[in-house]
Amino acid sequence: MNIALIAHDKKKDDLVRFVIAYEAIFAKHTLFGTGTTGLRVMEATGLDVERFQSGPFGGDQEVGALIAKNKMDMVFFFRDPLTAQPHEPDVKALVRLCDVYSVPLATNMGTAEVLIKGLERGDMEWRKIVNESRS
Ligand code: PGA
Repeated sequence: MNIALIAHDKKKDDLVRFVIAYEAIFAKHTLFGTGTTGLRVMEATGLDVERFQSGPFGGDQEVGALIAKNKMDMVFFFRDPLTAQPHEPDVKALVRLCDVYSVPLATNMGTAEVLIKGLERGDMEWRKIVNESRS
């Protein structure tokens, strides 16, 4: 599965800790990330992350473009709800596209725990049908 990792600055430590905790599961998938988040995850783990631009410089939109092409299977986007973001329209657009394409999206640790366990349990196997039709 293709998985996107994005975290706003105050949530980056949480996301890095989350990926470390579930590194063995993430290692079975192809990871993408916005610039700084992707770098932080690579530095903290042995995982490879294909990095896009930093979020405020278009990274969220790059992830969105893959969603629009049905090439993203799951998104972990740890948002900071207490800090204004210069790229708020991009954030909204990304969340919207996940809804348009029914891509599972975790915007906080609570949902992330459920999604990663579902992924490991095979709950995402239906995406393989989508993936076969796109290849
Ligand atoms: P970053 O972007 O990983 O490059 O910090 C994330 C964001 O703010 O959307």
